[in-house]
Amino acid sequence: MVAVLIVEDDAAIRTALIRSLGASGHAVSSAATGMAGLQLATDGHADVVVLDLGLPDIDGLRVLTMLRAVSDVPVVVATAQDDERVIVKALDAGADDYVVKPFGGEQLEARIRAVLRRAGTPETSASAIVVGDLVISPTTREVTLQGERIELSRKEFDLLHLLASRPGEVVTKREILTEVWRQAYGGGDRTVDVHLSWLRRKLGETAAEPVYLHSVRGVGVRLRAPEAGPA
Ligand code: CA
Repeated sequence: MVAVLIVEDDAAIRTALIRSLGASGHAVSSAATGMAGLQLATDGHADVVVLDLGLPDIDGLRVLTMLRAVSDVPVVVATAQDDERVIVKALDAGADDYVVKPFGGEQLEARIRAVLRRAGTPETSASAIVVGDLVISPTTREVTLQGERIELSRKEFDLLHLLASRPGEVVTKREILTEVWRQAYGGGDRTVDVHLSWLRRKLGETAAEPVYLHSVRGVGVRLRAPEAGPA
């Protein structure tokens, strides 16, 4: 979940952005003036700030300059003018990216993802893979099962991530070797089998009584949620 702060005086735009970003699972806060926005932006709760340049009390560029004096929170400026001089000024003042009005929620989300990526902030909810009670976060390389953190080795994680990114699909051992071991390793099926058995143990299951990891003899393995029923 990403905490987004919207500083925008136009109530219709503000409401639309709160709705669309909220629907994507972000925690959205907002301010209608530069002063209120500055206060919220400096309290450290926002992961990213969407800042309108045309504000009633203080010019948006001035807000940006003041914010930059105390914080390096990523900022996407929203401008009504498709004017290169304005955009260059905003970028020079420390904006990380910009959108030109009118813009859609999807474009804004893409800009937010891009600035967070550059800032190195993990976007857990955006990229986490959920299969049943299993949650795999590629950005943080964390895995939880029923909310409990599971410690995996690097290869175990890569293997689980590969299977989870194709849930319900049988992934062949050849594919696993290519994807996880990059074929640099001369091993074969046995390598995969050993890591699978370690992974099973950590997930609290066995090959004889599978819960998530189902081997298909002579082909490969598939990961699926327990409640999915018989294949
Ligand atoms: Ca405005």
